[in-house]
Amino acid sequence: MRRKLWFVGLLALLGGTGRVNGRDSSPAVDRPLPWRAVSYQLECHLDTLGALMSADGRRYLPWKGRVLAVLQATKTGTSPVELDLEGRWQVHSVQVNSRDVSFEYRKGRIRIRMPDSGIKEDSEMKGGSGTDRGICSVQVVYSGHLMEAAKPPWQDGLVLGTDSLGYPRLGMTCQGSGARSWWPCLDDARSEPEQVSLRISYPAYGASQVGHRQPALLDMIANGRREGDTLVGGTRTVTWRIRQPINLYNVTFNIGRYVRFVQPYADPQGVERELEFFVSPEDLNKARSHMAQSVDMMSCYEKTLGPYAFWKDGYKVIQSSYLGMEHQSAVAYGNGFRNNEWGFDFILVHESGHEWWGNSVSASDPSDWWIHEGLTTLMEAVFLECRDGNRKQADAYMVRMRRKIQNQKPMQGPRGRRFSAHDVDIYYKGAWMFYSLRNSVGNDSLWSATLGSAYQKFALQTISTEQMVDHWAQGLGPRYAGTLHWWLNHAECPVLEWEMVSNKGDTTTSQVRYRWARTARGIYLPMGTASGQCLNPQAGRWQTMVWNTPGHALTQAERLWALQAEMTNLTKCYLIRVQRLKGGL
Ligand SMILES: [Zn+2]
Repeated sequence: MRRKLWFVGLLALLGGTGRVNGRDSSPAVDRPLPWRAVSYQLECHLDTLGALMSADGRRYLPWKGRVLAVLQATKTGTSPVELDLEGRWQVHSVQVNSRDVSFEYRKGRIRIRMPDSGIKEDSEMKGGSGTDRGICSVQVVYSGHLMEAAKPPWQDGLVLGTDSLGYPRLGMTCQGSGARSWWPCLDDARSEPEQVSLRISYPAYGASQVGHRQPALLDMIANGRREGDTLVGGTRTVTWRIRQPINLYNVTFNIGRYVRFVQPYADPQGVERELEFFVSPEDLNKARSHMAQSVDMMSCYEKTLGPYAFWKDGYKVIQSSYLGMEHQSAVAYGNGFRNNEWGFDFILVHESGHEWWGNSVSASDPSDWWIHEGLTTLMEAVFLECRDGNRKQADAYMVRMRRKIQNQKPMQGPRGRRFSAHDVDIYYKGAWMFYSLRNSVGNDSLWSATLGSAYQKFALQTISTEQMVDHWAQGLGPRYAGTLHWWLNHAECPVLEWEMVSNKGDTTTSQVRYRWARTARGIYLPMGTASGQCLNPQAGRWQTMVWNTPGHALTQAERLWALQAEMTNLTKCYLIRVQRLKGGL
């Protein structure tokens, strides 16, 4: 999602019966990772789609679940298994390798005592290849309250919406609160399972909240491919299976009235693909024409970055009751089939861009999330450039974006502490870093190649800030590494100080000196002005340039004004602040 704070705010702290529920405020990813998830199998049941009200006035649905996790030890020896599960839940039983085991559920974590034979050779596992060691299966049966999102997708959780005819349209979005807010899992960005299956049973028919229409048959759409669908006695059970590694916050489901249509698309290699869309029946016609832009978008992204990584699971866009979310292979879309003033649907383009930056190239820690949002926001401008065949509109788009940069807190936070971005800077400022580098190197093909190879190098991996910065430094020049780190770790923009120091006795030429403010130590950013001057400031050390008045003779005041405009215009191309000092003339 984009452009709002993530509030990890849905965390219920109610004491439950039996084992205590609640939230552990200690960092989760600081700890070593003794286990990684190989796969999850979720089987869940909803008795009703009508919301109930909790004692504190929050809406929820009762939810029963059984999760089978196949885990692999990352080191030899038997480490206890700890699964994350936060919220208003009760854990009824835990089995390891099909045997009941004792466990403790407190502070949002299920601590599981491993039996002596807890870790098996893979050959003992059903369907195992017999080669991997340290595999075990953990099954958790739990139930409780699936709480409604306060303001999805920013304050997230279960979305209890309705479509335009008043029928239920449910969704799940948990980027902030994490998968741990609705199912027990190893909720750690470093551990992406290779497969996840999601089976949900729910009342098959939903009633409209407006008018007297007949109840409607409701479908369930999730990530991956549909694997099962039965309707027995008013209960529908639908299963979807994800067959490619996935960030857990991307696992989702949608329940509602849906029709499917397909947009044919030939990829850059000429392979025929299907772009799938699931929308409310009454929106089918406008959705069909509106979503035609997805072909150009997909083509642009594949040509610029590399192949879409999740064809095995498909590319789907699912109409939602919230603005959008980058759910892998099941993008949530709720922007009303509207284009912006630039003539494209930024929710479609942004959330789909996350399939490359976020879902395929994933941050290994939330403190690296500028990689997801900065590069995806950049793709909005890249899409404009693909569409137009030149960068004029794309540059104007970036300049407009600049106003939204806050410069209040650094983009990067501490590792291992479930860092939540302070503000929108990981989007706009993140994108602007790369736009600035492009203008600095002045070599569009080199910059584009570096962007593309960043994707190709890190596709389907979880990476750190250092890896991404190193890649750009290798591509554009080693001194840019310090520049990127500076931007990421400072709230402010580097300040370019300047002053006019003399004129040469005529009315067309002035001498100007400039430098980085001392705080900008480590910044390397050669820049070009509109009149063709090349500046390569040094921190705290003056440099001089001779500035020629463009066109005609000016008074000193006019020259100062024109020079001020030229220096200020640098902020339309570079992530800097410009300050004229009081000295000089
Ligand atoms: Zn986003």
